[in-house]
Amino acid sequence: MRRVRDGGKFNGTEQDRLALLRRLAGQGFAYVDIEEDLQAPELEEVIRRGGARIVRSLHDFSRVPPGLSARFASLARGPSEIPKAAVTPTTCAQLAELLEVFHAPGNQERVLLGMGDIGFPTRVLAPHLGSSWCYASPTAQAVAPGQVTPISLEDVYRFRSIGRSTAIFGVMGNPVMHSRSPLIHNRGFSALGIDAVYLPFLVPDLDGFWKVADALQIRGLSVTVPHKQAVLGPMVRADAHARLVGACNTLMREGAGSSWSGTNTDGEGFLAPLLAVFGGAIPPGLGVTVIGAGGAARAVVAALGSLGARVLVLNRTIENARSLAAAFGAHAGGLDAAGFGSEKDFSDLVVQTTSAGMSPLEDVDPAPGLAFSGSEIVYELVYSPRKTRFLQRSEKAGCRIVYGRQMLIAQAMRQFQLFVNASYPASLLAELEAEID
Ligand code: NAP
Repeated sequence: MRRVRDGGKFNGTEQDRLALLRRLAGQGFAYVDIEEDLQAPELEEVIRRGGARIVRSLHDFSRVPPGLSARFASLARGPSEIPKAAVTPTTCAQLAELLEVFHAPGNQERVLLGMGDIGFPTRVLAPHLGSSWCYASPTAQAVAPGQVTPISLEDVYRFRSIGRSTAIFGVMGNPVMHSRSPLIHNRGFSALGIDAVYLPFLVPDLDGFWKVADALQIRGLSVTVPHKQAVLGPMVRADAHARLVGACNTLMREGAGSSWSGTNTDGEGFLAPLLAVFGGAIPPGLGVTVIGAGGAARAVVAALGSLGARVLVLNRTIENARSLAAAFGAHAGGLDAAGFGSEKDFSDLVVQTTSAGMSPLEDVDPAPGLAFSGSEIVYELVYSPRKTRFLQRSEKAGCRIVYGRQMLIAQAMRQFQLFVNASYPASLLAELEAEID
């Protein structure tokens, strides 16, 4: 019976609402949640007489309000009340401010949460951060922004096994909420009985995110679009391979400080399914066309170059194709008639590495002018949806296809090994491949 301005759906008068609350409050509820600014001594008396506890709540659907710590500290009117704040971080810097409130001394019992996708980790981490409970919606139509379903809380995030000492891992990116990496890593932790959880972190502001990572003492991170190159700054000591590729997809906290070591598992993840297709070794002189020239393409071209393949890079922005090709001794062209003409000499394998085909570009084929003969092996890096337009077209032409999810799982297995120094349980792979869609 929340007021509309607090995100609720009660559309009667305030008088009606209070009258209803008074009637219901004494009927055996354990908790009754009333708003911070509500002055209703009669109602409070009914709640107390009925044996219920008062949850005194404040909501902000547009930001983390300034001075939240002080406001939260004075929210409860007496030791039996439970203070609750549900606010909306719109940047990681704001999420870091919210996390500071968790560290402030105060009531043992309290509820603090960040709404929206940026605040999502605070919901799953309620038991770790010391929130008395977390809100979930039984359907995908969440009651508040960012709410998770109870099934996903338990199946994907193992909510009930999270505690104060649970180690935190995650994937940072933008967009990132679609990522299937939490499913892969959390299943692995569960199978091996490791006290850890892996979460998606939506990161619009990298500077703010480093503060979040320190506040949560995140141990290890997968890095995805668009931060793979940007993380190669002063915070990260990248290994030679990540420097060669010019992009980092894996970070591990170094000791207790705020610095990170970085590497890139995309190349290994890319090669694993390909080596399986070729029976363990890439044929000498393999001609490969790589579509795209972003972070993933760099890892792919470096991996192919290390095995002696001949590579042509075709990209929408031809300058980006040229600079990638120049770094690895490959050829370059645009996604145009001239580029597709050169492709004929590099057509044993075609690798699609652009983000076209992935949400929100599901309907986009990055190279509609590229005609398949049917003899190419076509390898798509986009893993959601499973079968992009590009893959559908190549399969129809008779090409053998390799799915992005195969690479996703292979590179995640390598990350898992780096994160927890244990092999990913092979017994989970078949089930995972079926589940990742
Ligand atoms: P990125 O660095 O942002 O690069 C994006 C690339 O896509 C650029 O070459 C860009 O061309 C091109 N592009 C974007 N929109 C396009 C369009 N409408 N038409 C044609 N080209 C377009 O991204 P990234 O890190 O390389 O990641 C790319 C994709 O690979 C993502 O979908 C990611 O999920 C996927 N990926 C999958 C795995 C896996 O394990 N399966 C691993 C890594 C990445 P311009 O240069 O012209 O902008």
